Order: sequence, then C-alpha cells, then structure tokens
Amino acid sequence: MEEFDLAVIGGGPIGLFAAGYAQLHGLKVVLFDSLDEVGGQPQMLYPFKQIMDIPAYNEITAKELISNLRKALTKQVTIKVNHRVNEVIKNETGFNIDHQFQVRSIIIATGNGAFNPKKFPVKMNPAAEQRVHYFVKDPAIFKGQTIGIFGGGDSALDWALELANVAKVKLIHRRQEFRGLESSLTRLKKMKNVEILTPFLPKEAKISNNQLQITLKEVGSQEVRTERFDQILVAYGFRADNRVVKNWGVNLSGARIKVGAEMKTNLDGIYAAGDVATYPGRVPIIGVGFGETQIAINAIMRELFPEKTLTIHSTSM
Ligand SMILES: Cc1cc2nc3c(=O)[nH]c(=O)nc-3n(C[C@H](O)[C@H](O)[C@H](O)COP(=O)(O)OP(=O)(O)OC[C@H]3O[C@@H](n4cnc5c(N)ncnc54)[C@H](O)[C@@H]3O)c2cc1C
Repeated sequence: MEEFDLAVIGGGPIGLFAAGYAQLHGLKVVLFDSLDEVGGQPQMLYPFKQIMDIPAYNEITAKELISNLRKALTKQVTIKVNHRVNEVIKNETGFNIDHQFQVRSIIIATGNGAFNPKKFPVKMNPAAEQRVHYFVKDPAIFKGQTIGIFGGGDSALDWALELANVAKVKLIHRRQEFRGLESSLTRLKKMKNVEILTPFLPKEAKISNNQLQITLKEVGSQEVRTERFDQILVAYGFRADNRVVKNWGVNLSGARIKVGAEMKTNLDGIYAAGDVATYPGRVPIIGVGFGETQIAINAIMRELFPEKTLTIHSTSM
C-alpha cells in the first residue's frame, strides 16, 4: 500500500496548483486524473486560448499555464494519470483510495467531473476511426493536410483558427449561426485556406483513395455533398460526470460539493476546491480556485501537524 500525506483528486489547473503548493509545505502528495494527461478543461477544451485573468500574467495560453503548473511539480508529487478515483473509504489513519493508496487528507478538485468527448455520430470502420480526433496535442501533425472541423462553439472556432496556421480547414456546422465568438468567425471568413460549410450534418464516412470521405446532408433539404479530408477534428463538446463523488459521503448541492470555512467538506480531512466546490458567491474561474487550495492546504497543515508553527510565506520555508 502506497502512503501519502495528501491525495489531490483531479489534475486540472486547481489540482495541479494544489499539489505544487502542498509540495512547498513539505507534504508527500499523490495526484490523480482520469484522463491520460493532466490539465483539465484548459488543456482539453481551450489549449490555445489566451487567458487574461491569471494574476501576474497579462495573457498566457491555457496550454502554457498548464505546462508551467506541471513543471513546478517535483518527485514529491506522484502523478497517476488514467486513474479515475472511484472509492474513498475512511479508516483509522486517514483514507483508503481504491484499495491501493493510504492518505491522511484529501483535496477533491474534480471540476465538472471526469469528461468524455461527445462522439462523431457516424458509424465507420477502424481505419476511418483513426482519422477522427477529439483532442489535439500537437497541431504540427496536421501540417499541409486538409482538416475537417465539426462543431459550432468556441472550441471549434479556436481550433479552426489554430489549425489554419498549418493546414487547409473546412469548418462544418449543422446551423447557419455559430455559437462561438463573432470576432473569431469574422477572422475565419477572411482566411483563404478556410472554407465554412453550413448547415450540414455528417451522414456517412469511409476511407477512399487514402482520404476520409464524408457525405454531408444539408439540414432542411435533400441536398448531399461529399467532402474529402486527411483527418477530422470533432468539437461537439464534452459530457462531464461527477456522480462518483456522491459515493464518497460528501454533502452536495446539485453536482457540486458544499464547503464551509477553510474549504472543508462535511467530512473531517476531506476538502474541496476549484469548480467542484460551491459556496455562496463562488465564481468558476482559475484564480479563485488557486486561492481556495492555499486556504485548504494551510488548514491541512494545521490538522496534520498541530505541533508545528505554521509558516505561511514561502520566503520563510
Ligand atoms: C471554453 C472555456 C473557457 C474558459 N476560460 C477561462 C478564462 O479565461 N479564465 C478562467 O479563469 N477560467 C476560464 N474557464 C474556466 C476554467 O477552465 C475552470 O474554472 C477551471 O478549469 C476549473 O479547474 P478545476 O481544476 O477545478 O477543474 P477542471 O479543469 O474541470 O479539471 C478537473 C480534472 O479532474 C479530473 N477528474 C474528474 N473526476 C475525476 C476522478 N473521479 N478521478 C480522477 N480525476 C478526475 C478531470 O479529468 C479533470 O482533468 C473557461 C472554461 C471554459 C470551458
């Protein structure tokens, strides 16, 4: 059984910052994320967005923010990706997590919950499936290709703008109007290597002449057209599922965990921070979540080491 002072459940920006701040206080930490990489919503949903409300940065891309938070972690933090925490059981010395980890305290930072992309609604064979992406880790893999982007929200528009730097882009949406920022759409309309196809729904997909051939049906008419792509990116959004936290015994308000002073839940030793936490007036932004983890970790230090005089400023550690 591996033993830790603190388990951070959720490796979004708030979980990553919590792990780093706990490490600064000398805690041995294990951090879990259900996905195959850390970073949560910024990394998965809007990696190239310039965020302008992170303290001390005029602007920073979401991807860079996550990379900085990740780089700050040392060996004192054990990261377990592809690990969706299912079971948290209280025992004499703290908590047992999934029958594998014994921890003295927990910060739940699961955001909106473990998320999965909404799938492309067309059946296809495995060879065609390989051309379908839901996340992009490195836009360079699309260099010089023809890429179809399906979706009408900010993610679809952001991806279209980003990939238009390296590829020919066809943006396909089922409505005439896009939900994303008008300014992004205006920029896309001016780009020579971007074609916007609306209102179309995908109906069939197969590999033909080493390309992904997709039949599109015009919404509200019988017209069909065939488009060919090297690869496609599906930006239909994500389904998030936070139901598992119910089983851990914490009090909820809707899908969020109720916290009181010091980010404490109703269970001693279990704290919540970031988008999963709720209290009157909470705002779901990253800067707020960072501060919440600092409050929680100072409380955890007092709880785990009551004999120590708590040093609050990093300069004195
Ligand atoms: C399009 C968009 C733009 C935004 N722009 C801004 C902005 O400009 N500025 C700003 O401050 N905020 C912005 N936000 C909000 C910001 O992204 C969130 O407030 C922030 O991501 C919350 O961080 P978190 O770590 O609490 O949760 P998340 O980012 O949701 O991360 C939670 C992590 O927990 C993991 N997880 C969930 N359940 C489990 C489990 N059972 N076991 C293990 N892991 C689990 C998930 O896989 C995920 O990685 C934006 C959000 C969106 C959608």
